[in-house]
Amino acid sequence: MKLLFNVGKLIDATGADAREKMSVLVENGRIAQIGAQGTIQAADATVINAPDQTLIPGLIDTHFHLFLLLLNPVGGPSEVTHMADEMVATKVFKAANAAKVWLQMGVTTVRDAGAGEFMAVAMKEAIRDGYTPGPRVVASGPLIAQTGGFRPGSNSHGVEVTGADEARREARIHLKAGVDVVKIYGASTIGGGGGRLISEPGWTQFTVEEMRAIVEEAHKPGRLTSCHTGSAQSIKNAILAGVDFIDHATFMDQECIDMLLETNTPIVPTQAIAWSLERYGEKMGFGPHIARKSAEVSAVSMKCLANAYQAGVKIAAGTDADNPHASLAKECELLTEIGMSNMEALLAATKTAAEILKLDASLGTIEVGKIADLVLLDKNPVEDIRNLTSVSRVFQSGKEVQLPLYDLTDFFNKVN
Ligand SMILES: [Zn+2]
Repeated sequence: MKLLFNVGKLIDATGADAREKMSVLVENGRIAQIGAQGTIQAADATVINAPDQTLIPGLIDTHFHLFLLLLNPVGGPSEVTHMADEMVATKVFKAANAAKVWLQMGVTTVRDAGAGEFMAVAMKEAIRDGYTPGPRVVASGPLIAQTGGFRPGSNSHGVEVTGADEARREARIHLKAGVDVVKIYGASTIGGGGGRLISEPGWTQFTVEEMRAIVEEAHKPGRLTSCHTGSAQSIKNAILAGVDFIDHATFMDQECIDMLLETNTPIVPTQAIAWSLERYGEKMGFGPHIARKSAEVSAVSMKCLANAYQAGVKIAAGTDADNPHASLAKECELLTEIGMSNMEALLAATKTAAEILKLDASLGTIEVGKIADLVLLDKNPVEDIRNLTSVSRVFQSGKEVQLPLYDLTDFFNKVN
């Protein structure tokens, strides 16, 4: 099957400027040819004329949680307690819903940053095999935390271990289950241990030795590792342990930034979740202290992040929730607030994300030979990054996704 896109603007996300009046030919789910309009011969192709639209690669959310539903876009505000759902089937139906919402927002790949019982791996396989629509999933398992380290009330979401041997054993269990990125929980949450604020935000957990054991095991079959971090020391520990990329990196000091640069370790800062909790947290069912804490932390972390960006640290976009307020478009907008250009923010959600997940041979840019995950936008995101919300049509492996699945105008109006 062949598709010929004739588009007003093409942003291929290689870093090149937008090109006007371009054509892209898709054949058997891959990009076969790119050229100026009128130069590609494909009489047998289905033609998609979009003279006023902009074509970009499918977006990649490098830190998402299918199994952490914070807000139900269909039924309105709902409980925060996805993790407290008693039946696994309830969690799965909610996760399938979240996958559809993210796909509708132009996100064709997510890295699920952790869920209990290897449910993210199951969802990866279900989506891949066509049982339910959604972004392709790069899956983590339950978060591996130190004993006593995981959030109270959310035990099913993580697993606790003590010592390098137990950590190594757990990593091996994750590999057997088919995890792509082994997720380490190297610091408490910004809430300091959960809704109860039992400590300072992001206190350091695990020893370097414990984390190194996990990293060693993951790397043997070529899998990746990431680490949930908060305090500067937790970021340094993760780098010393050889983790492939750092989640959150909330409180980076200069030494963290130097170490990230020396080791060429990327970060996925996830600012949108704090942004959304600050504004909508109470509506979502959190106590007012969570909104206060989010505001406090994000003021500091945005400054740390601006320093890291200036210094040249590699940054990918991740949202950290299936909460439509914390959309990937919002994350990209927040990245422009730390100094990124609109194009750089778009690359953080396409090219850079693919590189970090080691998917750049097949995803992340519009280049000949790559998988045809494509999004048509009504408006150009390089003119205004908020135009990432103007998703019109979404294609995965050259097949159009049937949209719209849900009316998300309300979220996007607020996002804008
Ligand atoms: Zn997360």
